Amino acid sequence: MPTPDQILTLSDVRYRWSGRASFELTVPDFRLATGDTVLLLGESGSGKSTLLSLICGTILAQSGSVCVAGTDIASLSSGMRDRFRAEQIGLIFQQFNLLPFASVRDNIMLPLRFAPDRAKRVPSATENAKRLCHDLGLPSGVMDTRAGSLSVGQQQRVAAARALIGTPPLIVADEPTSSLDAATQSTFLDLLFTQARAHNATLLMVSHDARLVSQFDRVVHMSDIATTIRGAA
Ligand code: ADP
Ligand code: MG
Repeated sequence: MPTPDQILTLSDVRYRWSGRASFELTVPDFRLATGDTVLLLGESGSGKSTLLSLICGTILAQSGSVCVAGTDIASLSSGMRDRFRAEQIGLIFQQFNLLPFASVRDNIMLPLRFAPDRAKRVPSATENAKRLCHDLGLPSGVMDTRAGSLSVGQQQRVAAARALIGTPPLIVADEPTSSLDAATQSTFLDLLFTQARAHNATLLMVSHDARLVSQFDRVVHMSDIATTIRGAA
């Protein structure tokens, strides 16, 4: 059973991708406490992104349970799960997944459209978006710029602002720094940590870059929490 100070609990989770190169992931017990910053390390192909998809409820475990903020996500209908994800989780992807033709403002505010309670947590969404841009070191006046016209480093900051707006309790980032150079990477991480800590948000970041270890409260290796089978029938 999840305790109140746990934002995430996976128990006896099993998920299998079917197909020719099938892959099975089993996670007996993985928990995140509220406010934890955790780096998840693992080889390419070890199932890190699969685990994040299970946590976000974009795929559902074939057995076991995934609880986010005390809710078993398998108990929600697909529509409720989409809304629940938007309310509870700020997501940052390796490829940013910004809408290139939409403005920075529209990109940052996008999750709030699907998450009315998250929108209510901030007095003014526009002010929150501006404040995040400022704190993330984006130039003033960037809000009306097309997201696709920004540099890679700036786009990644916009992706971070989109994840942080409305202070979701869980921030999940899948190799968010892999397309940034070392200097931009370190600034980006500092800003992400500052923002997460200011709101006691939990940060789960996937990387295969062991140099990031010292910055996190806890480092978890895939091989410590999961077993995998390739070519599982
Ligand atoms: P990582 O993020 O650690 O690199 P992934 O979770 O992306 O690992 O992938 C682990 C394995 O799961 C892959 O090697 C592949 O066999 C399988 N897999 C991942 N995504 C899919 C998918 N969409 N369809 C089928 N198999 C997949
Ligand atoms: Mg991956």
